[in-house]
Amino acid sequence: MKLFNSLSLKKEEFAPLNEGRVRMYTCGPTPYNFVHIGNLRTFVFEDVLRRYLKYKGFKVTQVKNFTDVDDKTIRDSQKAKISLKEFTQKYIDEFFKDCDSLNIEKVEVYPKATEHIPEMVALIDYLLKKGVAYKSQDGVYFSIDKFKDYGRLAHIDLAGLKAGASGRILKDEYEKENVADFALWKFWDKADGDVKWPAQFGEGRPGWHVECSAMSAKHLTKMFERGFHPDKFETIDIHTGGIDLLFPHHQDEVAQTEGCVEKPFSKYWLHAEHLLVDNKKMSKSLGNFYTLRDILAKGYAPLAVRYLLLSSHYRQKMNFTFESLDAATVAVQRFNDFVLKLKEAHGSEEKKEVASAIERAKAAFESSLDDDLEMSSALASLFEFMNEINKLGIHQLSKKDAKLVDKFMKEIDSVLGILSVEEELSADVAKLIAERENARKIKNFARADELRDELKKHGIAVEDTAHGQRWKRIFS
Ligand SMILES: [Zn+2]
Repeated sequence: MKLFNSLSLKKEEFAPLNEGRVRMYTCGPTPYNFVHIGNLRTFVFEDVLRRYLKYKGFKVTQVKNFTDVDDKTIRDSQKAKISLKEFTQKYIDEFFKDCDSLNIEKVEVYPKATEHIPEMVALIDYLLKKGVAYKSQDGVYFSIDKFKDYGRLAHIDLAGLKAGASGRILKDEYEKENVADFALWKFWDKADGDVKWPAQFGEGRPGWHVECSAMSAKHLTKMFERGFHPDKFETIDIHTGGIDLLFPHHQDEVAQTEGCVEKPFSKYWLHAEHLLVDNKKMSKSLGNFYTLRDILAKGYAPLAVRYLLLSSHYRQKMNFTFESLDAATVAVQRFNDFVLKLKEAHGSEEKKEVASAIERAKAAFESSLDDDLEMSSALASLFEFMNEINKLGIHQLSKKDAKLVDKFMKEIDSVLGILSVEEELSADVAKLIAERENARKIKNFARADELRDELKKHGIAVEDTAHGQRWKRIFS
């Protein structure tokens, strides 16, 4: 399996540092608002990566943090006139709801920055003692001159920037043109209100970047096991995030962690590209800014949104349009209808073409995803497979062959996550379906039509076939 490493700018063969076990850190959301579909594109990519690693037989330990203290959360909690904790918890809860509707798997650890302040303080104190960091009037800063590899991950030529590379930056977010010493700790200022923690170098709060350095070391290595032991840090396997985090956030994480432990922070760095809406950068002022809720309110199904977000290659800019979401809706419906129809197989003969079609489709699916998660060709091979089976005639498949196909579809869905879970029908809906079957039997077609409309309101479509009435869930 090959993955594109932002560090080397090359596709590299993937091999975790400990055999069979992958330790992965994923920068999670800053809970100051609902996540938008651009964020969700990254989270869906990270979910597919995680699921595919598991499909390949790796054991995955993934940490996804909450940046529950930074410039934005403090600012907006004050605007909302509620405590930082109450404010961020509200958006953390909403984040989990969005992930559930998009069928994003739970990861192993969800640390919150505010619950790791002592670890951050220990890390900063150590950097100060090493002389890699220094104290100034408004905070503790990392000295980028003291870290020879600064700029290597983000591929910034520091020499070319030297003119502008002066001074210090207190803000959590800044542009490449402003490369400068960045804040590890910000001394308390009245704008911070009651948000502050004690530290030997002065009361205040952490900068955004140091939060991830502390939480990754804490949950993926033994660095903070019974005390503080920089020598016990072990390079992690994969660090992921959206491409907008590459600089300054990830570059600064590298500086802090490597400046402290003197080992590579992560073996692979994976970044998901931006999502555009109608070929433009998403922004509230352009009126093209969408959260998941905005889209679901228009009547789209969450699984269709998931399909759309995962269907293009993660390193390509994705252009979101409602036409493409309509197409994704059709695609998800096709996958689900195909699996549902397998239940109707009642042929008597086993066909050797079925097993060979599965074998070919499986090989094509895996070789595509092994190539840096090349999703469009993986999906194309699955459509080809469904066409082949449809040509053989699903009704004519033996029950045994249908089971083989079903098993394969469930296998690929452990990666894609686009098949709807076969929930039990609610009692009301089951009654309506039975009632309609009955109406047809006694040739009361007017009543059968009424019931069809009634079922549609419940998201169920009924079709009349030569083998009786068939129902399915509708995705639009
Ligand atoms: Zn981070």
